[in-house]
Amino acid sequence: MHSLITGGAGFVGSHLTEYLLQKDEKVTIVDNLSTGKFDNVKHLTQNRSLKIHIDTILNEPLMEHLIKECDVIYHLAAAVGVRLIIERPVETIETNIIGTEEMLKLANRYKKKTLITSTSEVYGKANKIPFAEDDDSVFGPTVKSRWCYACSKAMDEYLALAYYHEKKLPMVIARLFNTIGARQTGQYGMVVPTFVQQALLNHPITVYDDGQQSRSFTNVHDVVWALYALMNDPNAVGQVFNIGNGQEITIYGLAELIKEMTGSSSEIQLIPYDQAFESGFEDMRRRVPDITKLSELTGYEPKMDLRESIKQIIEYYKK
Ligand code: UDP
Repeated sequence: MHSLITGGAGFVGSHLTEYLLQKDEKVTIVDNLSTGKFDNVKHLTQNRSLKIHIDTILNEPLMEHLIKECDVIYHLAAAVGVRLIIERPVETIETNIIGTEEMLKLANRYKKKTLITSTSEVYGKANKIPFAEDDDSVFGPTVKSRWCYACSKAMDEYLALAYYHEKKLPMVIARLFNTIGARQTGQYGMVVPTFVQQALLNHPITVYDDGQQSRSFTNVHDVVWALYALMNDPNAVGQVFNIGNGQEITIYGLAELIKEMTGSSSEIQLIPYDQAFESGFEDMRRRVPDITKLSELTGYEPKMDLRESIKQIIEYYKK
């Protein structure tokens, strides 16, 4: 099997690349290194089953050639991270919508099975916990730029589903819930790498708001396992799946856990959202996945708990 991975030098993409190469598959990566890093895949460059193209997925002649050559497509290239979305909303909307549209158009031309990675952000600030795939999306107003990420990814989902129903393109949608692991950067606002770095440097750990908002974090190795399982299960085609881990923790609790695990002397600081982002910033209080659908189809069970994931991240940053 020859897989094309867009965003293959990113955090999740590089782990997926590694996983597929371990399975003796052929992999081609396209990444423009906007949020990805060459360092994430540098250790794999000697592998003859891997080809890397540092380029944008908007390079149509290149993408057409690569899509023609491959068997399946994992489309991971996207603008991600709350900080990036607030600071560069134009890039977020354009990358996520135009990029996915181009990919689907070309995938459909050659009828190549495509897995689209989406996000738990599409549930928005819905408060029916846990979130199941058929639940409603509840977005804030358009004047709050955070929601442009959720809307852009929701649009990607609509488009992929439309290609499936109208043009019979085989596709699967995977909604990723707060994924963590080695190689994730805190640069775009992600909480776990940010806290780990702050703790290791004995700097204040910056908990936003009252820290009572919660998340459930999934190890990237579990995510990659699920992406592969979904791609290879014919019964997944045409459907949406959550990929996550039901273990929930408050952000304040996360700060305490990371402080304890690093043996840090950092103080835990509470910072209002207005100061951290922009005036009127909206966050979601809780976000927990219902993973029944994925588990029933693939036998998925998260193998790594939060402590194990944090341990891997601490080791990564210590190096
Ligand atoms: N957060 C925080 N301090 C930080 C970064 C994030 O308290 O330095 C909070 C953020 O407000 C949110 C949660 O941690 O409530 C998860 O943030 P992240 O950006 O990692 O993911 P999100 O779930 O918001 O997409």
